Amino acid sequence: MIEADFALFNVDELVTVAPGCHAEARGDLGVIARGALAAQGTDIVWVGPMDELHDAVRLTPDATVVNTHGRTVLPGFVDPHTHPVFAGDRAADFYRRALNDEGYLDQLESGGIMATVKATREKSEDALLDLAYQRADVFLRYGTTSIQAKTGYGLTKNDELKCLRVLNRLQHLHVLKIVPAFLGAHVVPSDYGDNADAYVEGLTSDWLPAAQPHAQFVDVWCDEGAFTERQCRRVMRAAQDLGLRLTAHANEMGYGPGVRLAVEMRSSSVDHVVYLDDDDIEALVKGDTVAVLLPGTTFALASDVYAPARRLIDAGATVALGTDFNPGTSYTQNMQLILTLAVLKLGMSPEEAITAATVHAARAIGLDGRVGSLEPGKYCDFSIYCVGSYREIPYHYGMNLVESVVACGEVVVREGQMVTVPFPLARSS
Ligand SMILES: [Zn+2]
Repeated sequence: MIEADFALFNVDELVTVAPGCHAEARGDLGVIARGALAAQGTDIVWVGPMDELHDAVRLTPDATVVNTHGRTVLPGFVDPHTHPVFAGDRAADFYRRALNDEGYLDQLESGGIMATVKATREKSEDALLDLAYQRADVFLRYGTTSIQAKTGYGLTKNDELKCLRVLNRLQHLHVLKIVPAFLGAHVVPSDYGDNADAYVEGLTSDWLPAAQPHAQFVDVWCDEGAFTERQCRRVMRAAQDLGLRLTAHANEMGYGPGVRLAVEMRSSSVDHVVYLDDDDIEALVKGDTVAVLLPGTTFALASDVYAPARRLIDAGATVALGTDFNPGTSYTQNMQLILTLAVLKLGMSPEEAITAATVHAARAIGLDGRVGSLEPGKYCDFSIYCVGSYREIPYHYGMNLVESVVACGEVVVREGQMVTVPFPLARSS
């Protein structure tokens, strides 16, 4: 008998995203009809059909028992691309794009990211932590239990380190699992004018060593309007020398070398990847780098050019999905809506979209051993949806269908409301 202090039962569709985890699992998503799950401490210890729970698991006298009354359960979403540390808003940019008055590259020159940078520099670390904490609550309420979170709105050494400290403090204060990524190479701040090389020099020789103990990933943006291949390669090499993992924003604004560079540098992921030629796709298929697609950004840019998801998947590349939550180009934390966009705009099946938002996203941020599927040995992180089948989640769009969320074996959202839980619970690694 397996001992457990938490049990979930009476689940119409338990979507494990762990094919082969149980003899009765069906489909690519490892769906168990009339399913149940048990956990001890922070980790799952058993998953299977409800009628086997009683014989397989002995519950402790004080165990938490959750009856879903026939709902659908998914692993907590893993959002592999978010920018949650910022101040101010860019609503005006959004409305000007909507009216087709300006494109994103025009806005990059006239203000864009730098408007957020200015507002973020003006805020204290505590004030930014307050904002980020509230945003972390929203991620959870929408069913996301792990995120990769980037800096990138400081763009001075002190301000980038301030934003990184916000993420580190949040890791210890909040149940949301947070993987910090240092994005000093977001754009060249306007204070540097045309002198991008000087910026990259300071970033690689001075800022990165200072950031190293506090970050897990280093991110670069290789694209028109951001950094060149040569500059990105320099930052990536310096990051690797410090033992940090890589991720990249690339090929969002146009064709270019970013995707191939990311694969060559063995980056864990390369994100956006809207403009891809055949060589880019071949590189992704042959390499170990996950392609993270961010259809919410394309949508909010009022663009019709979405990432070529079908070409990627059909060729055999590993595809993940994220929100790109940020104030300029994708102001949503709702992964359920991203699933809808993946189905409608990227041509993905609901099964492909859910896999991309869970196990593949976990791989993109280096957490695939611990999160992204419901199976013994992983964190007990899942969401209960008020629908009878996972197929209703992309279809019933623009809603928050999450009723309750469990993270590390504790109920953290109940009937849509945050529950206060004892700390510390969650650790991202
Ligand atoms: Zn981004």
